[in-house]
Amino acid sequence: MTDPIIDLQNIRREFAAGDTSVVALDDLSLSIQPGEMVAIIGSSGSGKSTLLNILGCLDRPTSGTYRVAGKNVSELDADALAALRREHFGFIFQRYNLLGDLTAAANVEIPAVYAGLNARERRTRANALLERLGVGTRGGHRPNQLSGGQQQRVSIARALINGAEVILADEPTGALDRRSGEEVLKILKELHREGRTIIIVTHDADVAARAERIIELRDGRIVSDRHTGTAGASEPVARTAWDSGAGWTGALGRLREASRMALVAMAAHRLRAFLTMLGIIIGIAAVSSVVALGNASQRKVLSDISSLGTNTIEVFPGKDFGDARAGKIKTLVLDDARALDRQGFIAGVTPTVSTSTTVRYRGNESNVLVNGVGENYFLVKGAKLAKGRLFDADAVRNIERQAVIDDNTRKTFFADDQTSGIGRVIWLGKVPCRIVGVIAQQQGGFGSNQNLSVYLPYTTVQAQFTGDRALRSILLRISDEIWRRTR
Ligand code: ADP
Ligand code: MG
Repeated sequence: MTDPIIDLQNIRREFAAGDTSVVALDDLSLSIQPGEMVAIIGSSGSGKSTLLNILGCLDRPTSGTYRVAGKNVSELDADALAALRREHFGFIFQRYNLLGDLTAAANVEIPAVYAGLNARERRTRANALLERLGVGTRGGHRPNQLSGGQQQRVSIARALINGAEVILADEPTGALDRRSGEEVLKILKELHREGRTIIIVTHDADVAARAERIIELRDGRIVSDRHTGTAGASEPVARTAWDSGAGWTGALGRLREASRMALVAMAAHRLRAFLTMLGIIIGIAAVSSVVALGNASQRKVLSDISSLGTNTIEVFPGKDFGDARAGKIKTLVLDDARALDRQGFIAGVTPTVSTSTTVRYRGNESNVLVNGVGENYFLVKGAKLAKGRLFDADAVRNIERQAVIDDNTRKTFFADDQTSGIGRVIWLGKVPCRIVGVIAQQQGGFGSNQNLSVYLPYTTVQAQFTGDRALRSILLRISDEIWRRTR
């Protein structure tokens, strides 16, 4: 026997549920050798997904020790954890979690975009994987033009692109018809034969029968752990030919994003699906994406990570990515922001509303974007104060007409003014507002840098300009402290 790649000792995972708590995993110990193919079975609620999330470092245990390839996960800082995840894991989910906006090939490429691999190399790798998984001709299709089975193959390709040595699959065939499910299992089996460690969560006994080892959970405990007659893997190998390449891993090493995948220590049931997907997207996606917030079909998340900064996510209402009607949908409300704010992994949340109007000061006039935001906005956006101060929670609560202006507005109206505008009263449409602060020009912001922006408490914008309580978006910043925080 070699050393286990996965070693859990006395793992307990409790979730707070009101005044009490739910014990999802109860004193669970388990070792898995490299190259094993393991099925985790059990009825709904038995703790399978919780276990898988802990195995993949998407969540962490309340107590107990988890070692991956001998390393104690709880002792790792965020970067080391990122390295660990990167070197070891690939995820496959029941609902493929592909980004509907991108082609299949682009979906597979996303981790490589993050890794800073050049476009040609990315494409080569993605195409090779798609080819190998039998969807080589589908690279240019969007997910909704593919069958479920094809989408799952694409998601497997994405899981493999950074050379996952351990594949964690949560009900990978759960959404597929029999035949497509069969094909996905064949692929997993093949990956197993190459020496990868495969861990499949399933409630389907037929699926489980393909594994060489079946672990059954009941109420968060292992009630049986048996080896089947199924032939084992060949010699464990960490990498297969197509994903060799030191530069590749090295590039990923610079990523801090992977550590942010660890954010999924979720509490609110309502947001669970969202958070799970968020974890995936933060971890491996870069560009842009839309995911559903739980079952609330009207809510979608737009994560425009590349333009907002890699740890900032903006949640918009609407049905789909780039939903043209999103601006007219009034479903996003303050309670949603509050619900998000309660999530432990979030460093800051701010509602946003906006309107455009004219800004006047003495004889000058210009168009301006009026951004209604919470006091945390500046933290969330990483905006730096150049002069004066920001408005605080009291100003938001009291619907005060305090304005923070951007540098363009300062230059336009106060270029020759010693005060930079601080203390001056500007007119936004018909509303006089006092300037309290100026924020510095942000690097890498999106949109034209010629536009003038003014920031007011969102309550003020709602009361004085938009006249309703709907939010344009909720902006949130992910904490990178999650692994250091004790829950
Ligand atoms: P399975 O995947 O086997 O259906 P889960 O691991 O999802 O089971 O859930 C195990 C138990 O833990 C269930 O009682 C579930 O309600 C609870 N649970 C799982 N995740 C959370 C969470 N984030 N918050 C509260 N309870 C949770
Ligand atoms: Mg589950």
